[in-house]
Amino acid sequence: MHHGIKKLLLLGAGQAHLQVLARLARHHPGNLDVILLTPFAHHTGQGCLPGFMTGQHTADEGRVALEPLVRAASARWLQGRCTGLDVASRQVQVAATGGAQGVPATLGYDLLSIDTGTVPDRAWLDAEMPGANHHALHLSPMEAFVALWPQVMALAQQQAVSVAVVGAEADGIELVFAAEQGIREHGLPGARFTLITGGDEVGTDLPPGVRQRVLRQLRRRGITVLREACVGMSEGQVHLGNGARLACDVPLLAMGVRTPTWLPASGLALNESGQVSTGPTLQSTSHPQVFATGSVAARVDGAPGDMHAGAALAHNLLAAHEGTAPRALPPSRPRMALLACGTGHAIASWGPLTLAGGWVWGWKDRIDRGFLEQHRVTRR
Ligand SMILES: Cc1cc2nc3c(=O)[nH]c(=O)nc-3n(C[C@H](O)[C@H](O)[C@H](O)COP(=O)(O)OP(=O)(O)OC[C@H]3O[C@@H](n4cnc5c(N)ncnc54)[C@H](O)[C@@H]3O)c2cc1C
Repeated sequence: MHHGIKKLLLLGAGQAHLQVLARLARHHPGNLDVILLTPFAHHTGQGCLPGFMTGQHTADEGRVALEPLVRAASARWLQGRCTGLDVASRQVQVAATGGAQGVPATLGYDLLSIDTGTVPDRAWLDAEMPGANHHALHLSPMEAFVALWPQVMALAQQQAVSVAVVGAEADGIELVFAAEQGIREHGLPGARFTLITGGDEVGTDLPPGVRQRVLRQLRRRGITVLREACVGMSEGQVHLGNGARLACDVPLLAMGVRTPTWLPASGLALNESGQVSTGPTLQSTSHPQVFATGSVAARVDGAPGDMHAGAALAHNLLAAHEGTAPRALPPSRPRMALLACGTGHAIASWGPLTLAGGWVWGWKDRIDRGFLEQHRVTRR
């Protein structure tokens, strides 16, 4: 029994959707038409960004080409982005990207799965940090960051650069360590690095033990921490909340993101942060034929967002297709968190326990590269 469900539309190529495609490559029901709509030809592994920035590996080694995986899953890839969603009519509006031809302006679905992550909040940045949209290199989308990073390295080989990372949560911390190491190893000596926290302590979301280790590493690596807000940017300068101006050749932004602008009008139930509200089966609380995971979604039971929920998502999408019971993810489990301080040193935490060192980096690197390797289809 398939209850007439025929079209599965996957929005975005985050980790979870890679796992859905891998599952479909093993078992694809004959009467299920699967489309992946996503703007870039690759999934870029966030965990591999430090390795790329420090020159340990190439951009291609840190990402997975989508087309072979999509083909192996007997699905279709449409290169474009979702620009609108109407859950009442089950329609998605589409804008082609990368010069793709023949991409329809709308797509219908029976089952929809959203894994589009967050996007830069350009309007907020214009209001709160004038000049940042123009002068800073944003970490999101990562594909654009990866494409532009070689220009930063080229500049660092011509002059001793001053780099400022704005945003001091896990992504900003990993970014400043990777930038420092990459430029120290491959750029001209004398480069300066600053981490701007916004006024808070570094890593407010991190367990205290991890934060202490991060602060120690920042000191050891000579990275200045400014516990100030960034309130604007101009050519060669970052403007701080205390009125000071920091000379800066390379401002990097690791904050100022939001959920997609097309979500509020979609008709889906959202939480106060604008994320899709889901239950433990990753189904929307308002529209059970819509699934969502990753940073675009949040579970109403308060369990933290889990970008590793791909196996459960794949199971539940097929269950919805086949009319069988979905599987609920457990409410909240302590999860091992791994934070890279460049390549060669990482911090692991599990609840209040922390460990750090070169071997933690090796372990993290094996996990991150292993995930990409598992989803890399080389021959078909
Ligand atoms: C260096 C770094 C370190 C980080 N460290 C941590 C950490 O320690 N802990 C932590 O919790 N988080 C961390 N993060 C953040 C974490 O990586 C992201 O929250 C996570 O990648 C989000 O995964 P996702 O599946 O939601 O979306 P993504 O991995 O961003 O995937 C989204 C996909 O959707 C596509 N897409 C976007 N818009 C559209 C659209 N309109 N239509 C169709 N497709 C679209 C994108 O191209 C992409 O393929 C870090 C990020 C970076 C860069």
